Amino acid sequence: MTVSNYDNLLADVPTDLYIGGSWRPASDGARMDVIDPATEETIASVASASVDDAMAALDAAEGAAVEWGARKPRERGEILRKAFELIMAESERFARLITVENGKALPDSRGEVAYAAEFFRWYAEEAVRGIGEISMAPSSGARIVVQHKPAGIGVLVTPWNFPAAMATRKIGPALAAGCPVVLKPASETPLTALALAPIFEEAGVPPGIVNILPSRRSGAVVGSMLSDLRVRVISFTGSTEVGRKLLHAAADNIVRPVMELGGNAPFIVFEDADVDAAVEGAMVAKMRNMGEACTAANRFYVHESVHEAFATKFAERMKGLALGHGLDDGVAVGPLVNAETRDKVVSLVSDAVGKGARVLTGGAAVDGKGFFYPATVLTGVTDDAQLLRDEIFGPVAAIQTFRDEAEIIARANATEYGLVAYVYTGDLSRGMRVSEKLDFGMVGLNRGLVSDPAAPFGGMKQSGIGREGAHEGIMEFLETQYVSVTW
Ligand code: NAD
Repeated sequence: MTVSNYDNLLADVPTDLYIGGSWRPASDGARMDVIDPATEETIASVASASVDDAMAALDAAEGAAVEWGARKPRERGEILRKAFELIMAESERFARLITVENGKALPDSRGEVAYAAEFFRWYAEEAVRGIGEISMAPSSGARIVVQHKPAGIGVLVTPWNFPAAMATRKIGPALAAGCPVVLKPASETPLTALALAPIFEEAGVPPGIVNILPSRRSGAVVGSMLSDLRVRVISFTGSTEVGRKLLHAAADNIVRPVMELGGNAPFIVFEDADVDAAVEGAMVAKMRNMGEACTAANRFYVHESVHEAFATKFAERMKGLALGHGLDDGVAVGPLVNAETRDKVVSLVSDAVGKGARVLTGGAAVDGKGFFYPATVLTGVTDDAQLLRDEIFGPVAAIQTFRDEAEIIARANATEYGLVAYVYTGDLSRGMRVSEKLDFGMVGLNRGLVSDPAAPFGGMKQSGIGREGAHEGIMEFLETQYVSVTW
């Protein structure tokens, strides 16, 4: 695959900052390179926003806020609906763009585009459900009128693993609620976010309501916005480490945080599970995005009586996944996003193998250009292996066995993370009993995929604060106001 194979794809993608409805370079002219992780070649140079640019974006957002917040909810809903349709009409272009900057294989990117667009359809529908309530104060007899107002300007910071969906999951509810936003996409994958700007324009989003600022100076740019009193919401998806920093920064001005952070998902297969269905679910829970997902199954716990059957079938399926440039036909596993991510996978696997794990398939990085790592299955992983504690963020499944229900619930919960857990069992009452005891914000019960725009996505413990998607997602961008009235 050479760059010329996708020249046309990149020709129309904007590469400047999108502020107040127009395109401009960074105030100091700074730019940053975007690379294709499959070839390590530079494919674009994008403006890298400065603190002055961030202030210009806040000025634009402030200037547009009142008019947008006062629009009838139906109007905002129709604009989001149009944006959904426009993305779907160009879904193949978006999918290819995601693949060239993130690396994931085209089928994965297609899935992401559909998921991303769906947030606009869902929030087009939520925009018109701004339900308040009226009740009578029990003692005074006054009426309690409760209504919701746009919270104000939102700063949105997104990771590289879902360049489209993590942006739309935040922009959709913010716009539906009547809030303007400044989006800072991940430096590795700014092109997909920038390519959304013309969609917003065509859909009728007014200038200043969505501003897009890629920047290599993330700390300074986001920090400057968090110290500006005009910002009311910080919605962040990324690592727990950066989330913690942003929570500290948000504390000064009491900015509302929505934090979607890291995970360490257990995948539990009970002895009464349908093993084939569990393998199918494991393929999705582990391999969606090549394991570069906060929802990726990180620790496989398989009952000792079905371990042999599960591990053999799972390893066979993993072995069959073709590695290559994500745009090429038949490829299921593209490169990891950068050298750092690939090197972390290499070191976690070598640590586990050094401590006694057995490699059923994969287990070594691929030489040559591109950050490739093959689908890998490890069994006999020992309790002291680092990959049971760290997010692997790569296509590596680490399997351990267990005997007893209470024991496995305790082991699954023994992590500071609490995003998602997966449970496979043929007994639904056991499934519900175990799900309720798992300290995770989401549970996939006989399912390897939980992400859905209509469901509240989010974690417990150090996996985050707040929820995205569903009705909860729009509430993060709304303030509740109550009027006490006598009539
Ligand atoms: P990251 O935390 O390194 O970066 C996320 C974003 O924050 C990027 O835009 C980055 O440029 C920006 N950033 C980095 N340092 C910053 C700073 N000091 N101040 C402000 N912004 C800063 O995460 P990543 O490597 O891009 O993504 C991987 C992580 O994201 C994983 O931990 C994964 O679990 C998590 N994630 C969570 C969810 C979820 O919904 N819970 C979804 C996807 C990814």
